[in-house]
Amino acid sequence: MHRILQAGNCPLEIGLWREILFKLETPIEMTVQQFDLVWPYMTNCWTFNSNSHSYGDYFLYRCVFGAKDRGASGHGVRAKKRRAITGCPAFLKMIPQYVGEPGSVVGYILQRPKNPHNDDHSLETADMVKMNSALVDMVAYQLSLGKSVGEVRDTMRAKHDKVAEKHFLDAGGRKMDYQVVANILRHPKR
Ligand SMILES: [Zn+2]
Repeated sequence: MHRILQAGNCPLEIGLWREILFKLETPIEMTVQQFDLVWPYMTNCWTFNSNSHSYGDYFLYRCVFGAKDRGASGHGVRAKKRRAITGCPAFLKMIPQYVGEPGSVVGYILQRPKNPHNDDHSLETADMVKMNSALVDMVAYQLSLGKSVGEVRDTMRAKHDKVAEKHFLDAGGRKMDYQVVANILRHPKR
């Protein structure tokens, strides 16, 4: 198991959780504790729809490839690749579950309102475009200990240990390289 992911309380079965929460083939119920542990690994897949406050008893997240103008600015291969993947109709609906009166939130039901993701992207595609906030936070913490950029990259990627390396990729680490770690060093508050 990955030492740093373990220290960050990353569940061993994070890859399974992430697949389930990306595809949302059936509604899933999570406790607040489960949600708080797993959701930071999904922030590169689903973006909060701020309009959803007006829906009252539920919240909506949209697929990161859903925004029509995503990647509209910029040039080069990366910008073109982003432009090629747009208009995904997938949404995630988050319905808080309450107990007591006045109610306190004990969990959430997460489900897809209707549409699945387009065929042109997967969880891996999202991971190659952006790193999730759980991993960004772990990198920032490792840098704050005074480790070098290369040292943090190598420790996180764990290429010397196949099990740890798989756990890291399952957690969403496909984009991790020297440049990504260097950017987090330059902008630690992102
Ligand atoms: Zn999508």
